[in-house]
Amino acid sequence: MKKRTFQIFPFLVLLLAALSLTVAAGQSTSQPGGDERAILDSLHTISSHTLYSHVEELVSEKYGGRLTGTPEYDACADWIASLLEKWEIRPGDDGGSYMQSFPNPYTLVFPGCEVYLRLPVNGAEIRKHYRFDDQFIPGGTSGSGEVTAEVIYVGYGVTAPDLGYDDYAGVDVKGKILLMEREVPVAPDKDVELFRKWRPYSFHQYKLENAVAHGAAGMLYNYGPIGNPNNSYDAGFIYSHVGEAVVTDVFAGTGRDHKAVVEKIRETMQPQSFATGKFFTIKNVTEHHPDGIGANVIGLIEGSDPVLKDELIILGGHLDHLGRMWELMPGANDNATSVAVMLGVAEAMSRCPVKPKRSVMFLFFGAEEQGVAGSEFYVNHPLFPLEKTAAFINMEGPGVGDKVSVLAGKNFPDFHGFLESANGRYIHRVIEASSFANIARPRQDTARFLWKGVPSITVGAEEIRPVPRAPSYHNTRDNLESITPEIMEDIAQLLFAAIMDMSDEPALDFRK
Ligand SMILES: [Zn+2]
Repeated sequence: MKKRTFQIFPFLVLLLAALSLTVAAGQSTSQPGGDERAILDSLHTISSHTLYSHVEELVSEKYGGRLTGTPEYDACADWIASLLEKWEIRPGDDGGSYMQSFPNPYTLVFPGCEVYLRLPVNGAEIRKHYRFDDQFIPGGTSGSGEVTAEVIYVGYGVTAPDLGYDDYAGVDVKGKILLMEREVPVAPDKDVELFRKWRPYSFHQYKLENAVAHGAAGMLYNYGPIGNPNNSYDAGFIYSHVGEAVVTDVFAGTGRDHKAVVEKIRETMQPQSFATGKFFTIKNVTEHHPDGIGANVIGLIEGSDPVLKDELIILGGHLDHLGRMWELMPGANDNATSVAVMLGVAEAMSRCPVKPKRSVMFLFFGAEEQGVAGSEFYVNHPLFPLEKTAAFINMEGPGVGDKVSVLAGKNFPDFHGFLESANGRYIHRVIEASSFANIARPRQDTARFLWKGVPSITVGAEEIRPVPRAPSYHNTRDNLESITPEIMEDIAQLLFAAIMDMSDEPALDFRK
């Protein structure tokens, strides 16, 4: 082997010399030269194998589904910090810590939770048990214990004197179990102004607290069923998220059709609450931790230009997921794939001989799943001035699909242009920008930044031709098997190139 290397060496020298001549002859040729060559070489070190192994690590049992506040989340955050340190990416905090801590209460959900219907038959009772995960998922902040009671249908569970609307009027819910819809009777995409009036009543927290204030003991929340730890906690209130299987059984024999009732509320804006005559038991085994502490993990590559380094580009995504409810919720594409892509970009950038001229921050959020609390804390305690933060690229689910989606790309066409350009040069995927129409509620980390005036987009992946399959959002099916490693590699390479371009742009102002 050695001998042969020596034989071809002179040819290599000639070839390289010819290549550099071609490059020197003019930048119009497609041959990249100098810095661009180095950037391209670094871009190609990003591999789907490495990114996939990051996802594998993140969804593993030892991190327990990454619920912010838990020791398992902390272990995961430590792992991220250890990689940043290994790659010599400096801590986001000048004081030397990768962790930005904030108060974050959390609730653990253990095995043994149940939802069942009690049907009286000839003086005896038949119990119909529902299946965990596809028929019910325990409430992520439920009290611990058991409640058996009649189910009262309370529509959206809203008491809004200012809107002349009360789902609790005329029904006695003391000690009862409620069946409640999520959201409010008006949708934000139909009439934004009207929705703004209803907005305070649309939060899970409001609905739960209003139910408790009315003396209810439990709730079947018509929500998926998907898991969600984003709610208030009341020790005496026991609830579960349920779907069609449970709702159909509650309505059976009541002489009412569920869909028609919901439709009637929305059309007439009149509550349709009633006692269903159905008895249910909800049993949950949980443990609340009011003193939980959460953390964002933050690393920074300081810009190489003495002036431009005072401006910042953030690459972010949430590190957390739902924890165990009661089984492990892996959160592979929500949002381990984003974390893997961020790690891929961070490693490539740290090893690239060409440094970005602007500073680049890697911001792994905690508690996105618990009220988007990590990004809220960051924008109120920024480690870099927000007015000097030129761009925030957030990521949600870049691991399932074959096209690149850019939420709010249409709101920031120049910003999106950098992604399109990088895609056109190196990646060649279908890339699609959409508008961020509803920022009325913080559903994503970008909302927090947009409210503060920071240009923000969210990059993810979608399927060009969606494959019909069982839903895998906030349940146990969001697992490793659903992941497409190649799209992660492409998105990581695309973002690496786009961030390097943005960091070198003489004037970068997406605010105008
Ligand atoms: Zn989520």
